[in-house]
Amino acid sequence: MSEALDELLHGPSALPVLVKPDGTYETTVYPPATLAEYAPESIDIDYEGSFEDGQILDHHERDAIGSVENGWTVLTGWSADPSLFIMRNDQYIGGDLAEHIAGTPGLWAVVSVEMHPHPCGAGKDGMPCPEWTEHETCEHAEGGESDGVGWALVHREVGDS
Ligand SMILES: [Zn+2]
Repeated sequence: MSEALDELLHGPSALPVLVKPDGTYETTVYPPATLAEYAPESIDIDYEGSFEDGQILDHHERDAIGSVENGWTVLTGWSADPSLFIMRNDQYIGGDLAEHIAGTPGLWAVVSVEMHPHPCGAGKDGMPCPEWTEHETCEHAEGGESDGVGWALVHREVGDS
């Protein structure tokens, strides 16, 4: 049972899983009934230092948790790392965590946690300089794609559960 939950939540469909009050669960149908039932696509997290060696501090984590909207809440307290909520990529939904999910009715979804390089702030009024604006990289800031930090579980209560 726990294996199935991990497969469903980490599956390619990326659709939320509906846990029913009796502890059974199923992948939700697409599209969801209301806009709010769409899980966030990702959670963006800020950091200090360089993009390569970014330090994610507690307040960055709290801000990221607070950024999740539409009734979704971020599951905290289950990371294998000293993190409030970011699960390592090698973490697996099994054991106590699977039991916790199966015992908590509502919608559950796995979302990626991502860092984005800071834009340049060397232009006028702290805006990006012209070079950044053209190329999204410049001598003041690192360019590059977003970087996956890990993943998180989000939960949302539904209707009359
Ligand atoms: Zn610049």
